[in-house]
Amino acid sequence: MTVRIGVTGAAGRMGREVLAVLAAREDCEPALAVNRSPVAEPIDGVEVEPAAEFDRLVADREPDVVIDFTGPESALAYAETCAEADVAFVTGTTGFDDGERERLRETSERIPVMHAPNFARGVQALLNVVGQAVRNLPGYDVELVETHHNGKRDAPSGTANRLLAEIEDNGEFAGRTYGREGEQPREEGEIGVHVLRAGGIRGEHEIVLADDHEELRLTHRAEDRGVFAAGAVDAAEWIVGRKADWYDFANVIDE
Ligand code: NAD
Repeated sequence: MTVRIGVTGAAGRMGREVLAVLAAREDCEPALAVNRSPVAEPIDGVEVEPAAEFDRLVADREPDVVIDFTGPESALAYAETCAEADVAFVTGTTGFDDGERERLRETSERIPVMHAPNFARGVQALLNVVGQAVRNLPGYDVELVETHHNGKRDAPSGTANRLLAEIEDNGEFAGRTYGREGEQPREEGEIGVHVLRAGGIRGEHEIVLADDHEELRLTHRAEDRGVFAAGAVDAAEWIVGRKADWYDFANVIDE
C-alpha cells in the first residue's frame, strides 16, 4: 500500500525536507502540500498550494495522514480539519503552550495523533537512557545545553523540555535555572538550562552530569534536517490505520 501524505508548511525548512524524503521513497507519496506564503516553483516536483486551500484539498485528495511542521496555531487548525475529515495527524511543531497542547490532545479523541518535538531516532534513544543515568548518579549536578539555528522561535527547545521532564522524573531536584549572570553561585539541586542560538546549527542537546570526581556527558547532534523528516515519515506510515489515540514517537521506535 502506498501511503498518501499531506504536508503543511511545505516551503519551510522542515517541509522541504519532508517533500525530499517523499520523493526518495517508494512506499509513500505526497497527496497535497500547502504553505502560508505562496511558492512560485514546485518543490521536488510537488506543487505547493496556499494554506487557505487546505480544507478543500483534504476533502478532494483524501490523504491518509498529514505531516505538519509549522507553528502552534496553524498546527492546531490543521489538526482540527484532519479530525473532521478522519485523517491521521503527525506534527513536529514545537512551542505549544499548555492550553494549545490540551486542544491538540483533544483531537486525538477523534483521530490518531502523534506529536514529537524531535523525530530523530538518536534523540529518542537519548530520552530512553537519560533517566537511567540520573537514577545511577544521585546527587550529581545536572546541566542541559541546547543549541539551534538563529531562526528558531521557542526556547528552550521542545526536545530540551522533554529531556528536562525525564531528568526531573528520575531524581530529586530543586528547580530549573535558566542561564546565569553576575553573582550567581550554583544552588544545590538546581538544573541549569542554557540556550544557544547561532548560524544554521540543526540541533544539539547535551546533558552534563558531574560531581567533584567525574563527569558524564550525553550529547546528541543532528547533522542535517533529513533525519527529522525521515523520522516523521516513518511515524506517518506507522500511524495510518491505528485507532484514534495520542501516540508517541517512542511507539514507532520500540516496534
Ligand atoms: P520554518 O519557519 O522554516 O517553516 C515553517 C513553515 O510553516 C514556513 O514555510 C511557514 O510559512 C509555514 N507556515 C506557518 N504558518 C503556516 C500556516 N498557517 N499554514 C501553512 N504554512 C504555515 O520552520 P522550521 O524550521 O521548518 O520548523 C517548523 C516547526 O518544526 C518549528 O516549530 C520547529 O521547532 C519544529 N521542528 C521540529 C523538529 C522535530 O523533529 N520535531 C525538527 C525541526 C523543527
